Amino acid sequence: MTTTRSRAERAARARTAAPQLAAEGIDGVVFGWVDNAGLTRVKSVPLAQLEHAAEYGVGAAPCFDFSLVDDSFTRTPSSTGPTGDLRLVPDLDRLTPLAAQPGWAWAPADRYTQGGAPHPGCQRGFTRRAAEAVGRRGMSVRAGIEVEWVAADAAGTPAAHGPGYGMTRFVEHSDYLREVLNALTRQGLAVLQLHPEYAAGQFEVSVAAEGPVEAADTAMLVRHTIRAVSARHGLRVSYAPVFSGGELGNGGHVHLSLWRQGRNLAHGGPGRHGLHPEAEHFLAGVLSELPALLALGAPSAASYLRLVPSRFAGAYRCWGLENREAALRLITGSTAEQANAEVKCFDAAANPYLVIGGVLAAGLAGLDAGLQLPPETRSDPATLGTADRLPTTLSEATDAYEKSALLRKALGRELYEAVLAVRRGEAELFATRTDEDVIEATRWRY
Ligand code: GLU
Ligand code: MG
Repeated sequence: MTTTRSRAERAARARTAAPQLAAEGIDGVVFGWVDNAGLTRVKSVPLAQLEHAAEYGVGAAPCFDFSLVDDSFTRTPSSTGPTGDLRLVPDLDRLTPLAAQPGWAWAPADRYTQGGAPHPGCQRGFTRRAAEAVGRRGMSVRAGIEVEWVAADAAGTPAAHGPGYGMTRFVEHSDYLREVLNALTRQGLAVLQLHPEYAAGQFEVSVAAEGPVEAADTAMLVRHTIRAVSARHGLRVSYAPVFSGGELGNGGHVHLSLWRQGRNLAHGGPGRHGLHPEAEHFLAGVLSELPALLALGAPSAASYLRLVPSRFAGAYRCWGLENREAALRLITGSTAEQANAEVKCFDAAANPYLVIGGVLAAGLAGLDAGLQLPPETRSDPATLGTADRLPTTLSEATDAYEKSALLRKALGRELYEAVLAVRRGEAELFATRTDEDVIEATRWRY
């Protein structure tokens, strides 16, 4: 699990890393973090500044806790507007030379106050705290986020039109996809699969499960890498929830499994499909909190144009073995290691740290309360008169989030309120806009 290190330890790591990076031809290091709207923000330093940056961080305006998808800012009582400063501190444990951006390396960043304390609004810190809470119960979570994207040409038109999962698309983009695969692999990522998805120009990569913070870091790195490879092929990338109205969108499905002492609790247990009691309680906690969790995992007004029935997006609050229209799909896999649950209702606009941390917090609450899963949904929930539809607008999801004492406590007041303000701000931003306007305004932002 990632740990926080002292200033002296961080500086020492930078002193060791810098000559190695220089020998590899690296000139600068980019530090990434994801804001509450789901946009990845970066700052970079030349290699000569890495040690200072690792020790003290680089300046980061606190107002980015309140930035909306259009780069405007909202406020909360604890926001300081244009004043104040935070320190963006790279985690050099995850320092990665970027295969598709020669001369550059990347590291995910934690945010600290100027005094050196963890910033309570730091999303990565939230995921770390949630992972530690699981650890205190003698368990661990392994997670992974699938990355779907639309590749478009310079004019913004989807760059492949062949059938979903089609060989045509794969052949047309053979060199591009090979480079995506190689760049990810050279960066130490364990790619599991790469395929053309259903929507025009859409592709998907999945990577192996890891610890919660690592999985969120990986989601950021995978997306960054795909974008960089695409740029080298003259392609633009969209991770927006919806690229074209009426088509399948870009999901950000979260896979997770709960482990105790090297044993996957989603396999070989006495419960339904081999679930151990702890795994069932955990998943029941996630299922129960889904309407509020949507404010973390489906953060945009555009998210609700994706999250509709019959688009494989998981628009119903139910669970089922290999049920791709259920928000929670149980997967038994071919081996004990592979058994996991997939939360399908989340999309690619989500901040991966918020979504994984939120799911862990909900799962733990389910565990503590001993919640049971309801009866399984074995068919398309849209065909059942009884199915429980998830929120259908950003406002509705935000209302559920506002009522969630669980998420309020888990996120901590400052982060919870900042997310709330950003969701309300975006709901207001798009309140009077048509669906097409919302898609247009978000298509190239994530
Ligand atoms: N693109 C779909 C979504 O929006 C998911 C397709 C699939 O992988 O089943 O979630
Ligand atoms: Mg997919």
